[in-house]
Amino acid sequence: MIIWFGSSVMVELSDSGMTIGWVRVTIVDMVDELGRWKWCLLEHVLPYEILIRLAAIKSPFGNSYDQRGWLPSLDKKFSAIVVFRGISRVKTFLWLVCHGNVLTNDERGRRHLTIDRGCHVCGAGIENIDHILRWCPLAFSLWNSLVLADKFEEFLQLSIKDWIFADLSMTGNFAVDATNWDLLFAYILWNLWKRRNDVVFESHVVYRESILQQSKRMTNLPTLGWCKLNTDGAVHKYSQLASYGGRVGICSALEAELWGIFEGLLTAWLMDIRCLVVETDYLEAYHLLQNSATSYGCFTLMSHISELLTRPWTILFSHIVREGNVLVDTMAKMEVDEIFMCYRFCLPPYCCLDRLGLEAAVVSPGSWPS
Ligand SMILES: [Zn+2]
Repeated sequence: MIIWFGSSVMVELSDSGMTIGWVRVTIVDMVDELGRWKWCLLEHVLPYEILIRLAAIKSPFGNSYDQRGWLPSLDKKFSAIVVFRGISRVKTFLWLVCHGNVLTNDERGRRHLTIDRGCHVCGAGIENIDHILRWCPLAFSLWNSLVLADKFEEFLQLSIKDWIFADLSMTGNFAVDATNWDLLFAYILWNLWKRRNDVVFESHVVYRESILQQSKRMTNLPTLGWCKLNTDGAVHKYSQLASYGGRVGICSALEAELWGIFEGLLTAWLMDIRCLVVETDYLEAYHLLQNSATSYGCFTLMSHISELLTRPWTILFSHIVREGNVLVDTMAKMEVDEIFMCYRFCLPPYCCLDRLGLEAAVVSPGSWPS
């Protein structure tokens, strides 16, 4: 997060706050119980010219939370970022790039934070933002495949700020395929930067997707008004007890899967959801649902599901790969205290947090209706 005064940066924060010493704090941590700025802390992290401007700003309520605020800018190039329709952390990254505030190795060298200004990906002598986002071989080959051949030279020669403005606001200018080019362009920049960080900081992340695949997936935003239902059933190897979050007794894996779908549909209906994508990684269950068919042992359950499907709402079924369903797979195998109970979580259970991150970062979550 960045706090801006006019066109100058006041202070840069991460999404979770800023660092003072070794302690991470948010803006509201900078306000005392009487609603006054904590000058004794602020004066250690902000320059005097910012402090005197901050003195004219009313501090936030103690129970409020940090949020980004974008002032209207006279600079059209920054306005293209203001109206960017993608996710906010990428929007913040675009701001940083346009203001030259990304800590590349060249920038770190300039600030005397390192003596190595080179690119750790390709070995080039200077790693600046232009190199990372356009000239490093990984980026160059990617753009070469996506940009019109007769526009490629212009694409490479624009200043960074003009380049970002042109691609966000004139989507048919450079792209071979202009569909959602503003989103795809921005997400490619973001993923190039993230992959570069993984190399520099040796995070050993294993990616199952290319940068292009990952960026394309990110452009597949949820369609307004639609929700998704992910279900999964599990059968215990030894006890044969089946579960879909609440145990249903001894039954087949197919029945467990259908139980999960039935409970999910019922829950969605009661939540007044009327446009729903139901995802399952169980191919046989998918075929049954598609055809409203019944199967041995599932007659009554399928009858209940069929009744739900006749209600006035729109349901689409989608078969997804098992890797796209790891979160609910984990939840289906969770130990529960009460047999026959269906559990509802308002927040992700602790044991699912890493799975949630994995699905969001690595695995394709399927598609949304247009
Ligand atoms: Zn490089």
